[in-house]
Amino acid sequence: MLVPENQDIEIGGKYAPEVEKQLGGRIDNPSLQNYIDSVGQKIARISHKPDWEYHFVAVKHKSTNALALPGGYIFVTKGMLEKLTTEAQLAALLAHETVHVTARHSSAAMSRQMGLTFVFLGLGASGAKISQDAGRAAGFALQLIGLKYSRVQERQADLGGLDYMVAAGYNPYGAVELMQMLEDQDKVKPAEFLSSHPSPENRIIYLNARIQTRYDSPEGLRIGKDAYSTAVLSRLIIDK
Ligand SMILES: [Zn+2]
Repeated sequence: MLVPENQDIEIGGKYAPEVEKQLGGRIDNPSLQNYIDSVGQKIARISHKPDWEYHFVAVKHKSTNALALPGGYIFVTKGMLEKLTTEAQLAALLAHETVHVTARHSSAAMSRQMGLTFVFLGLGASGAKISQDAGRAAGFALQLIGLKYSRVQERQADLGGLDYMVAAGYNPYGAVELMQMLEDQDKVKPAEFLSSHPSPENRIIYLNARIQTRYDSPEGLRIGKDAYSTAVLSRLIIDK
């Protein structure tokens, strides 16, 4: 690992505002934001890095996407939120992104795809100059938004995310429904999520297999269809 762990938080914190801006800004509804964050925090607390500070933010962008910056900054787009139907599906999405943070996939992708020199240029004394240069900050943010993961990392995020969501009390079939929705959506219009999160072969098959071997009686676990509808769908103005 090239970027030291404490710099994950520094880099994430430094560029999160610019990334948020590039994604259309926050959805202007505190109740909706609190709900998204509360689901995310349940997952963060049982993750492998429970002491980090996590930020789960809903942004206005119409793409079907979610992304994680190093250090615990996780964004989900309005385009994605509109297509989910239950709290368990939201939990699956946030758990998947949380694994990219805790397994440090985001930092590895950043080092590999953006170059270590460029990453360090954004920090410390020279960082002040860059943050004054709006054009360069925007370019950096766009590169962070476009970070790509490997299929091995995706599988790890899928299966690790499944463990996280169940530990947080959610029905694991929400993960299968999420992936089914993304695959269906991708046939109509390519889902941005699947371009930055390449779909491993047999994703739905291995998720189902893991559920059957490890979580064979998920009946008591939370699905949260009405809760999601009230807290998110009713608050989004769905523009077709
Ligand atoms: Zn992913």
